[in-house]
Amino acid sequence: MISSQATPNLKAFERLSQRLADYRTVFPSCTRVVSASMATGCFPARHGLQGNSVAMLEEGRLVLRDAGHPDFLQHKRHVTGCSLAVPTLAERVKDHGGAIVFSNVSPGAAYAHDPDGHGHVYHRAGSFAPGRRQLGGHEHLDVTLDAAGDQRMTERFVNEVLHEKRPAVAVLWLGEPDHIQHEVPLGSPEHRSVLAHADANVRLVIESVDRLRASGDDVLLFIGSDHGHQTVEDVVDVDAELVAAGIKASQDSHDILAVSNGTSVLIYVDPDHAEKLPKIRSFLESSEWAGQVFGPDELGSVGQAAEGCLAFAVSMRESEGANAFGVCGLSFAAKPAAGKSDRLGCGQHGGLGRFEQSPFMLVAGPGFQAGAVNNFPASVVDVAPTILRHLGLPWSRLDGRPLQL
Ligand SMILES: [Zn+2]
Repeated sequence: MISSQATPNLKAFERLSQRLADYRTVFPSCTRVVSASMATGCFPARHGLQGNSVAMLEEGRLVLRDAGHPDFLQHKRHVTGCSLAVPTLAERVKDHGGAIVFSNVSPGAAYAHDPDGHGHVYHRAGSFAPGRRQLGGHEHLDVTLDAAGDQRMTERFVNEVLHEKRPAVAVLWLGEPDHIQHEVPLGSPEHRSVLAHADANVRLVIESVDRLRASGDDVLLFIGSDHGHQTVEDVVDVDAELVAAGIKASQDSHDILAVSNGTSVLIYVDPDHAEKLPKIRSFLESSEWAGQVFGPDELGSVGQAAEGCLAFAVSMRESEGANAFGVCGLSFAAKPAAGKSDRLGCGQHGGLGRFEQSPFMLVAGPGFQAGAVNNFPASVVDVAPTILRHLGLPWSRLDGRPLQL
């Protein structure tokens, strides 16, 4: 979607930055998981946020939980003993200039950057200072989840964060174009219009960073997306499929939970029903809607681990065909929990499809060559170690590695 016509500011920045051509996101390719992975420099197997939605064993019963809920990570700490299992960038830089995050996605994704209150996180559901002290009045970030809200957030970020508060790490996470891509067909006029607004916000940040550099600041600037999208061509109710196959007791039973993560699904199995694992595997492997299936011993290959009752992860069937607007990438999606939209014909993500797995990432600053293309494999978990190296701080024990030349 990046072109001189659709996103002129990003296209111009491409010439001033190094493009990571083989940059990959995590699995599931969902924003709450990506936020935690970017913040920690680790894959889900180590930070422990397995999906945008997950299941947890609570008082002896598997319970579905939406990780986008504002209180999810506080609840997870209560249930499992930790919010995220490894330190975040916010924690690592708290005595070295601190971190400020402005996010306009789901509350859970915003707070995944700093669930334990080491820095500042601003979000429409609640803005927090260190110690998770809630900010009120004009300090709170009260913006809508749309292009206008993103613009207000960006203007405040530029003035207040980049030029006044000047933390060591500043994160601006727009809600668009992801939000609109879930609502309309990819490549449609409505989508392209919102994309142009996002590109205008990019310009505000680039110009602001130029001013900081002119005044002597040594800025490392990442501009990227956290995942791509694919068009939903069919929606499958995986719980109902498991019931119909005689594996899950009923649609509402707690023996097995199929938890939709868009174009992927996480299958949780109560330990009391572990004898069902071989049956589940053969069922998933023979289902035409399933693409790649990862069992307990294979989850490590996609950055996951068979912990907390997670037994299988499935990337739904996908192909590289185009939608009506010529945008490539078609996927089956797993039907979300009751009350959420199916997104048929619109954009979705979560799986291992080529387009949802290939976000863009452009980096400018010391150690990155302007106008160059880096073809080495890189991933969202490399962002934190690259920032830590730029700041002269240790980056050991992370899954990622610094990307500077
Ligand atoms: Zn999304």
